[in-house]
Amino acid sequence: MTDARTVDEAYSSACNTDDLTVKAERRSDVDTLIASGMTPGLLGAALLRLHSEWDGTAKPRKLTETDARLLYGSLKTLPKVIDAVGQWASRKGYRDPYELAGGAVAYWLDCVCHACSGRGRELMPNASRPTLGNICRACGGNGRRRPPAGEAGKDALRLMDESVERARWSIKKRLRNSE
Ligand SMILES: [Zn+2]
Repeated sequence: MTDARTVDEAYSSACNTDDLTVKAERRSDVDTLIASGMTPGLLGAALLRLHSEWDGTAKPRKLTETDARLLYGSLKTLPKVIDAVGQWASRKGYRDPYELAGGAVAYWLDCVCHACSGRGRELMPNASRPTLGNICRACGGNGRRRPPAGEAGKDALRLMDESVERARWSIKKRLRNSE
């Protein structure tokens, strides 16, 4: 079944490199999320859908912040996800919760450094063909933008990653049960 593989290989937030392993579930986060009408599994499923919507949009080769903002308008699942993460952030007492949610979701979708397009190096000026030069000053060479909103942003990214893990896990379980 190709679906299973797609889900399996689906986006795992390489953006959130600080914490790639899913820790034991943090009770308070889950409660806070459920209060917004979402379970981690539901949020995770919405995030996977959102990411495939994002993958399905035609993007310019070098995506700028402005391009990205325009593209967000075409993502049907985006408002739902921002609303859930925003409610979660608000209940956790984070400042500007919906702004935080918007920034974190945008980063989750696209964390590539816009200055170097993820290469981590500047291109040599005036080279006859693309040649890598100095380390990119914007990202310090890791090819990723800086996550938004400090610790609160990281917390939101972690919530999203854990929710995606949860959704994958329950999809796998469902597939196993239907065999
Ligand atoms: Zn860069």
